[in-house]
Amino acid sequence: MRLDRRTLLQAAAGVAAALALPRAVGATGGIIESDADAAQLGATPPPVTTRPLPGDTIRVLLLRGRPAVRITAAGGFAVFDGPSGGENPILRAQPGQSRSIDATALAHGSGGAVVEPVGDAPLQLDGRSYRGRLLLFPDGGGMMAVNQLPIELYVLGVLGREVSPKWPAAVLQAHAIVSRSYALGRRKDAAHAFDVSATTADQVYGGVAAESAAGNDAVYQTRGQLLWYGGGVASAFFSSCCGGHTESAGALWGRDIPYLGGVADPYCAGSPHYRWRSYVSEETLRARLSSEVAALGEIAALEPLDVDNSGRARQVAVQGQDGRREIEAKAFRERLGSNVVRSTLLHRMQIANSPEQLQPDPAFDDPSPVAPPPPPQGGPLAMIEGAGWGHGVGLCQWGARGMALRGASATQILAFYFPGTAVVAR
Ligand SMILES: [Zn+2]
Repeated sequence: MRLDRRTLLQAAAGVAAALALPRAVGATGGIIESDADAAQLGATPPPVTTRPLPGDTIRVLLLRGRPAVRITAAGGFAVFDGPSGGENPILRAQPGQSRSIDATALAHGSGGAVVEPVGDAPLQLDGRSYRGRLLLFPDGGGMMAVNQLPIELYVLGVLGREVSPKWPAAVLQAHAIVSRSYALGRRKDAAHAFDVSATTADQVYGGVAAESAAGNDAVYQTRGQLLWYGGGVASAFFSSCCGGHTESAGALWGRDIPYLGGVADPYCAGSPHYRWRSYVSEETLRARLSSEVAALGEIAALEPLDVDNSGRARQVAVQGQDGRREIEAKAFRERLGSNVVRSTLLHRMQIANSPEQLQPDPAFDDPSPVAPPPPPQGGPLAMIEGAGWGHGVGLCQWGARGMALRGASATQILAFYFPGTAVVAR
């Protein structure tokens, strides 16, 4: 088994087998029909039904507000009416056949539909492949598509979007444990249409296209492992780069969590996001902060305030010609954009009438592969210098990479960023 697992992981059926999912349910976890059954489609369709997916599952919001979606699958698929499926499909598609399902049809049904693939081939939704099944719900005037699949298969589609498959195996393994734990911690009851979204609002999920041999291997090596604290799954937050000190949950969200108190991190200094500098015109600044700064006149200065133990500002003071106002640093970052204000670990902010009058700190010259908007040609403009990218709570992805390059294991990485937790296998 061990010798050929990499080969197995290349194929959908292999993923299920390698992850020890019951083969009878298959990698897609949907209805199971033999090839012979599939070949009979259109003649006398065999009875099919939805079946429970194996183990822990997760529901991932893929898209919403769409008037219609297009679905296909190499093995064909079946659509069942009702939010929890049923015995008899209302629509069946031949292998490779593409069918459009529109919101109007969905709204006339019983509040949703379940799309099950036939066999192991994944479903394609608007050209993107997903393992497991799709749940479709009316959503306002449009529709919402949710991917329901076993947690292990979900983590395969997260790893390739959250960390590079070229990073050391220990990082991929640590992240697999974090992503699995995070997702299980976000599961909701049946009154909710989905558990997590496929974006940075939770963790980025790319379906089959995000899978890689290295990522799949990390999921296999850590299958079933969770970050554990006090008899339950830990809140496994993570962000790209902490800039030298992770943030505490208490400071960011006002809720103290024992293992998320913040740690000094010497390992992410190699990150291109460790130090950054960005520019924004004074006009844009005023437009983005409009409601708060409307009465302040032209903005003359910005200052990070109320700095917490990790070095992050809780407030930003905006000094205008006609007054002064303090804005929550989180809101300041959201309004200006997270690629302009990459973190609230703010070093220096300056306003000048021209780019030549700014005094950049050479220590913040580090180039980033994600270029911020270039400095405006004229002025007045603001220059913002800071450290790290993201909220900074929990695992620092770049720091984990730094630790792994120094020889740390996945368990050591997790013990560093989540002190007091343990990795347990279920
Ligand atoms: Zn870090």
